[in-house]
Amino acid sequence: MYGLMQEHALALPLVFRRVEQYFGHKRVVTGRVDGESAVTWADVCARTRRLAAALDRLGVPSGARVGTFGWNSQRHVELYLAVPCTGRVLHTINHRLFHEQIRYIVDDAADDVLFVDRSLLPTVWPLAESFRSPRHVVVMDDGADVPLPDDPRIVGYETLLAEVSLFDGEFSIADENTAAALCYTSGTTGNPKGVLYSHRSMVLHALLLLMTDTFGISERDVVMPVVPMFHVNAWGFPYAAMLCGADLVLPGPAMRPAELITQMERHRVTFTGAVPTVWRGLEPLLADHDLSSLRMIVCGGGAVDDALSRSYQQAIGIPLTNAWGMTETSPVVTVPRLATVHDDLDPDAQRAVIGSPGLAVPLTELRVIGEDGTEVAWDGSTPGELQAAGPTIAARYVGEERPGPAFTDDGWLRTGDVATIDGHGYVRIVDRTKDLVKSGGEWIPSVELEGAIMADPRVAEAAVIGVEHPRWGERPVAYVVPKPGTGLTADDVREHLTSHVARWWIPEQVIFISEIPKTATGKFAKRQLRLQHRQDIPPEE
Ligand code: ADP
Repeated sequence: MYGLMQEHALALPLVFRRVEQYFGHKRVVTGRVDGESAVTWADVCARTRRLAAALDRLGVPSGARVGTFGWNSQRHVELYLAVPCTGRVLHTINHRLFHEQIRYIVDDAADDVLFVDRSLLPTVWPLAESFRSPRHVVVMDDGADVPLPDDPRIVGYETLLAEVSLFDGEFSIADENTAAALCYTSGTTGNPKGVLYSHRSMVLHALLLLMTDTFGISERDVVMPVVPMFHVNAWGFPYAAMLCGADLVLPGPAMRPAELITQMERHRVTFTGAVPTVWRGLEPLLADHDLSSLRMIVCGGGAVDDALSRSYQQAIGIPLTNAWGMTETSPVVTVPRLATVHDDLDPDAQRAVIGSPGLAVPLTELRVIGEDGTEVAWDGSTPGELQAAGPTIAARYVGEERPGPAFTDDGWLRTGDVATIDGHGYVRIVDRTKDLVKSGGEWIPSVELEGAIMADPRVAEAAVIGVEHPRWGERPVAYVVPKPGTGLTADDVREHLTSHVARWWIPEQVIFISEIPKTATGKFAKRQLRLQHRQDIPPEE
């Protein structure tokens, strides 16, 4: 027997209609290269309607991917709405990736049109010749003093909007499982992998962020996503802000610590989120700014350092709130909240609770699988691989006909993180099985970096491990076996890498050894290398 309720698709037009209908008076502020701009949600919605008409004018077909290279900005928000609400797929691209990866991602997604912030043109335009699919490159002027290429593919965002009249129909997505957005994430080997979110997963994720025991985002909040809008949809913060009518403060290209903290102070930001490296960068400036408006600082994408969290608590009265997630999980899966069971803990212990990943948000299920393939007890000490299932978790990657090795036979996502769960469901991440280094919140695939080092004919073998770093969370360290008689130096290795990988991938530490230790099956014994590194070189201060 079926229930007799309306079959109403959970789709982003509902989010658009809500912000347009109820919250037109609330604000959206964007930092620019040359200052900042402030508009209302009503302005954003009206421009979204124009942008929808402009996408039609450009002939972007239904279901086509619209690539964006953009900072956190009002125009990026307009794209977040107009693209999926008209049945196209928003594909946000990380401009910090190495050229080869960007090229691969644009080709794999077959982006029909690209929207690029003017300040990012020097990164994107040199690649434009080699992109196969995009018919147009729409430039969003963020005040950067960058010349526009003289090329028929270049179109100005504002010109485009000025040339069309408002789309005055209702946005409608009939099937909630229609694709809405696409993000690529690093695999441990091979090419980046596409995660394709549906309208349903996006709406559910936005709702989850509003829940009191998640982030409790509400109309009274001034939300500032510092986490980039190309990084898992800025963790869903923009859609959550629209759904509840919060003000939104977007830093644009003004991403230096002094610029971020000034915006937070000036706009009385109440809720913000970023990776640990950002909060480390702001910490020395806390004493000189009034951040008393902040009620929650989310520090996600990596572990929270308790000393840093204590500094925040002492300087501005609130610690850092950790959260765990992945691109594949929309991303927010666990959030810590002080529950009744934590009432008797002392303040340091309570800060430790807030500084750990916390427990699963509603609708998502977690389990930890031990080495014998069975579920381990939730005793807070037995580790195993963390696996996740739920309506906001990927079922497979783009291009996979059936779920690949990242998914279990019964359809759970294998996260590649090693975790424990305690009796109340609180998760702790203790290790990682995936061979990746997370530097400043961004992935460096060790195997790919090893390949780039070994592409130098003077190198016999190379292995890369991640080691803790006070500023970046982790940095790659390269162990290199040089071929005899080459006289190879660390500078030679780094010099070679400049033409093979992104600059921020290049290891500061290159250590020469006579042989890379191997496992019984002949693989690089990374665990042994990590131990050896810890013994030889204590963590950097
Ligand atoms: P994001 O950076 O938004 O979390 P990514 O897909 O880039 O998304 O990275 C996800 C991975 O980052 C996780 O699998 C885990 O290894 C690491 N990570 C994320 N959150 C945490 C956390 N709170 N503590 C430790 N590691 C984390």
